[in-house]
Amino acid sequence: MISVILCAAGSGTRAGFTENKVLREYNGLPVLCGSLCAFAPFADELLVTCRAEDLTRVQALLAPFPAARAVLGGATRGDSVYAALREAQGEIVLVHDAARPFVTEKIIRDCLASVKTYGSGVCALPLSDTIAETEDGHIVTVPPRTAYAAVQTPQGFFRNKLLGAYERARADGRLFTDESGVYAAYAEPPRLFLGDRTNRKLTYPEDFAPVERVGFGADTHAFAEDGDHIVLCGVRIPSAQALRAHSDGDAAVHALMDALLSAAGLRDIGYYFPDTDERFAGANSMELLKQVTAMLKDGGLRVKNVSLSIVAERPRMAPYIADMRRSVAEALDIEAHAVGIAAGTNERLGYVGEGKGITCYSFVLLKKA
Ligand code: MG
Repeated sequence: MISVILCAAGSGTRAGFTENKVLREYNGLPVLCGSLCAFAPFADELLVTCRAEDLTRVQALLAPFPAARAVLGGATRGDSVYAALREAQGEIVLVHDAARPFVTEKIIRDCLASVKTYGSGVCALPLSDTIAETEDGHIVTVPPRTAYAAVQTPQGFFRNKLLGAYERARADGRLFTDESGVYAAYAEPPRLFLGDRTNRKLTYPEDFAPVERVGFGADTHAFAEDGDHIVLCGVRIPSAQALRAHSDGDAAVHALMDALLSAAGLRDIGYYFPDTDERFAGANSMELLKQVTAMLKDGGLRVKNVSLSIVAERPRMAPYIADMRRSVAEALDIEAHAVGIAAGTNERLGYVGEGKGITCYSFVLLKKA
């Protein structure tokens, strides 16, 4: 029988949060769910240590996992694991930081195999940084890097042996940062197995930065009877017919703004710049694009790249594409190579093909600044 102990009783203060970081969302799911889902297929019982104030929220997350239950933690990680160890029933116990949601099936299998073969299995990585012993802001010695390992979780042991080690450590009043330390001091040198860099611990606010966000936008404008130019991406293009619009009719920038706002989870341009508002009559869409860029920056987002597609039978766009890219890049405060613009006809099909109007599409990718 295998027991898994997930350590979720931290406060998140190191991350600068006011709530438990394993209850915060990452990629749309509470962090705790990552390790719950990863370990559930391997565990006969899943014990999740948590603080009393988090109990209701933790229990709600455990509901879909019949083998899981919450265990009230103590003041330190050691106290919490000790409480769970006493409740656990398994012959083998794996202890894991709930703040490492990216643990893989391979890591869990390797951990179990190591316990079965060597009596213990501690997930570890070779160091990539040089480690120095320091004093008062100075390096005293630089030991050889190969003599050290970065110790992660999961860490697996035979439960009785780990529990015995914990009891002796507690009798001595000694505190350890994890089980491998307790086991090394009071049982035997734990066996290491090679982990994976993806098994990282979410510790600081920047670790919680959401992944990139994609956005899509589209806009259509009809041609007027006459005129002498149209404006696309802020570039004036000679045309025998202007585009009908309350603003300057820059359909490319309108599609782009909708893509940006949508990726940021905001409302659309009609909401922020309504065409019923006289302030936006004949508006320069590039100025509105700059306002959208400022809104993204306020939200801590930056544009990674944008892609625009212009579909029109006429006028010919090719001579103006380079200027359009520069103009958009400048408004977005990004490099021109991060702006891709394609233009084509609609092969005389539909309203675009009949020359009644033009349609523009845009995809964007945003990243947390
Ligand atoms: Mg429009």
